Amino acid sequence: MKLNIKDTFNIELPADPNVENTRRQVKEACFSFVMPRKTSKPKIIHVSPEMLKKIGLTPKDGKSDTFLRVFTGNGILPTTKPYAMCYGGHQFGNWAGQLGDGRAINLCEVEHKKERWALQLKGAGETPYSRTADGLAVLRSSIREYLCSEAMFHLGVPTTRALSLAITGDQVLRDVMYDGNPEYEKGAIVCRTSPSFIRFGNFEIFAARGDIPNLKKLTNYTIKHFFPHLGKPSKESYLQFFKEVSERSLAMVIEWQRVGFVHGVMNTDNMSILGLTIDYGPYGWLEGYDHGWTPNTTDRQFKRYKYGSQPDIVLWNLYQLANALYPIIEETKGLETILAEYRASYNDQYLKMMRSKLGLFSNVEEDKLLIKDLEENLQLTETDMTIFFRNLGNYETGSPAKALKIVSYAFYVPSEVNRTVKEKWNNWFEQYDNRLLLEHSSSKERKVKMNRVNPKYVLRNYMAQLAIDDADKGDYKLIDELFTMLKKPYANQPENEKWFAKRPDWARHKVGCSMLSCSS
Ligand code: AMP
Ligand code: MG
Repeated sequence: MKLNIKDTFNIELPADPNVENTRRQVKEACFSFVMPRKTSKPKIIHVSPEMLKKIGLTPKDGKSDTFLRVFTGNGILPTTKPYAMCYGGHQFGNWAGQLGDGRAINLCEVEHKKERWALQLKGAGETPYSRTADGLAVLRSSIREYLCSEAMFHLGVPTTRALSLAITGDQVLRDVMYDGNPEYEKGAIVCRTSPSFIRFGNFEIFAARGDIPNLKKLTNYTIKHFFPHLGKPSKESYLQFFKEVSERSLAMVIEWQRVGFVHGVMNTDNMSILGLTIDYGPYGWLEGYDHGWTPNTTDRQFKRYKYGSQPDIVLWNLYQLANALYPIIEETKGLETILAEYRASYNDQYLKMMRSKLGLFSNVEEDKLLIKDLEENLQLTETDMTIFFRNLGNYETGSPAKALKIVSYAFYVPSEVNRTVKEKWNNWFEQYDNRLLLEHSSSKERKVKMNRVNPKYVLRNYMAQLAIDDADKGDYKLIDELFTMLKKPYANQPENEKWFAKRPDWARHKVGCSMLSCSS
């Protein structure tokens, strides 16, 4: 197994001089060196063939002993120096101080075909940042991260990715519902990959500590490697950097809204500086379209991170990043302009995205109203988002009276579709039909375009749970089946028709399907 190792983060940035693996506050450093913990009986249960290729490895490499050792914590590659990053963050709206990679260990960075990939083990044991926790991850949450990050990539959503999923052979104690009933679960490690795992929180920690020299070093490093077109460090390039982070974060959240992904824990330590979806924890997919839905039980009371709030939360997080960068920019006006642009730009891009889901490609002022009415209708009675939009593609112009039938499979409780609901839908379809007359494509062409933005298959919460239940019994077939299907989320896959279905009734109130805790 030969990787083209090109470390930069742990070479160009200041290291914590303390190399002991003890929990502590780490000052004036971007990271601490730490070795992954040895695992007792590791087994790789899945490898992403696409990711293998991306980093320059062959399928044979993926089956090698070295691969097993390196990606389960039992050995490191020559010349590499694994490390955990230091970062802080705002959690649920409050400054939480130092957080850091409490259970993620970066192995190295690899360069292949001019692309850079940091390889990081999640669940590889404690680090100086583990605080009171064990540094480990369980199979349940690892399967969820592994499957979802690759699925998001294939959906076209900016995301970190995953190379491999392994069980460690060790037992990990977790209290899933935080109700005082901890149980042992199978330990697991995901090797996740990203050009960089730097978060908003990496900048915030230096700003909070008034460590401006290191704030500058980290910003210069980030620009040099990931925003090189911005040129030499200067106040102007820092401002441009913030603008690009803002634009990328906006592009990411628009895609979340498009596919119905709810992150669940949008703390600033879970915001990638590259605008990638990162840290798959208690995330979920909208089944019934609902602006007020969040999968995260910890957030059930205030619903800070509900579907409908995600774009505003990205903006809130950008404010925190702006505050963190202020000491090296020393001027608020530019930052404020960029933050103000976010909102205007969000409205434009959301409209454009929603138009595309409806098969509308010209701009008509009234579309705003059409979309607002649609959002209201979708929340009249529990209506499956994925099925609704996918089946809407079958609509033929000039037949509004038949439209409701086309989408009726999306309704969870058909008896709730009473006269009033029907009337509202029929009215909406009349408006929609009128609007389609202003488009130039035929119904057939429109369907092709709509099918490119309205996925047929997403990783519904219950599907991941079925794969988890099987895997707990040692059967990993469903992981592979879902992994393979989710590579083509927009295609019609006759052999996978059973996954184009509403959430089954048994999953409505089941832990892991409709309720997810942060325990992972
Ligand atoms: P998260 O909510 O998963 O984004 O994690 C928030 C913080 O808690 C990060 O600093 C994580 O590294 C840390 N953390 C989460 N789970 C563990 C764990 N099992 N052991 C150590 N640190 C953890
Ligand atoms: Mg996190």
